[in-house]
Amino acid sequence: MNARISEIFESIQGEGVLVGVLQLFIRFCGCNLNCYYCDTRKESEICVDHVNEKILKNPVHVDYVQRTIDSAKVHSVSFTGGEPSLQASFIRSLRKTKPFYLETNMTLPEKAKKLKFVDYVAGDLKVRESRIANYEEVLEKTFQCFRILKNTRKRLTFCKIVLPAKFNQEEVLNSAMQIKDYVHSFVLQPVFGEDASNVFKLQKAMLEFADVRVIPQVHKLMGVK
Ligand code: SF4
Repeated sequence: MNARISEIFESIQGEGVLVGVLQLFIRFCGCNLNCYYCDTRKESEICVDHVNEKILKNPVHVDYVQRTIDSAKVHSVSFTGGEPSLQASFIRSLRKTKPFYLETNMTLPEKAKKLKFVDYVAGDLKVRESRIANYEEVLEKTFQCFRILKNTRKRLTFCKIVLPAKFNQEEVLNSAMQIKDYVHSFVLQPVFGEDASNVFKLQKAMLEFADVRVIPQVHKLMGVK
């Protein structure tokens, strides 16, 4: 089995409740959304493997990724993108010799059903201001994904909300209420470089019903990958 992968590298996790742990990142190509603040390349003819110092032609074989996972000395393996759940079958075909961490936009419930075996889920709740198409439809799928990949004793699931300087607080609160019973916590992440004062106001309002943390993209502050 093969998958299109843009990069393989080791770095600290720069977002969310596991910020600072050392991870092996498998960054897949392709995404079903188009958020205005997206900072990742979604297509690439080559896979740059910084760990083994190799440049591979896409697609990359699962055995190569497995060997890289097996030899990594890291806290966990982060599947990121793009949207990694588009590659659910590929991820399922890997042996979990390290904990698996899924960074997903939570909009593909059928794919989410195949990924219930992961140990960590960093799941997005997209706000309307992300400027993605068919917002209502996407939001309904997000609620479904959180129900499928909910926080359990075996799986830590948190919800990440990327917030621009201006957003509809009432709408975010209503959506968070739909999700709160399925997550360990919420992480509010200001869009890098944008004013965060409204984010702190939202945190205060959400603290009424959930564990809510404001965490910026730490890897960007430190200037690392
Ligand atoms: S879901 Fe993530 S990868 Fe996809 S467009 Fe939005 S920010 Fe980019």
